[in-house]
Amino acid sequence: MPSGKPAGMRCIQLDNENRCMLFGKPERPAFCGSLQPSIAMCGDESLENPREYAIAWLTQLEAATKPA
Ligand code: SF4
Repeated sequence: MPSGKPAGMRCIQLDNENRCMLFGKPERPAFCGSLQPSIAMCGDESLENPREYAIAWLTQLEAATKPA
């Protein structure tokens, strides 16, 4: 995705188990590497489904930063 991943679109670099196929490789976008986990994004250990929480948070972030 040379122009970046459009908001709301699944990244083509995700494998079938939702792992980044570029993780640890130099071609992984710098932005991806700069995104650091936080409690705001990932929730805390009290959550029953932290993945669902994180996906909802990221979906909101994508909607809020989507170009007009
Ligand atoms: S970390 Fe970046 S390149 Fe990897 S799957 Fe996520 S959006 Fe795609």
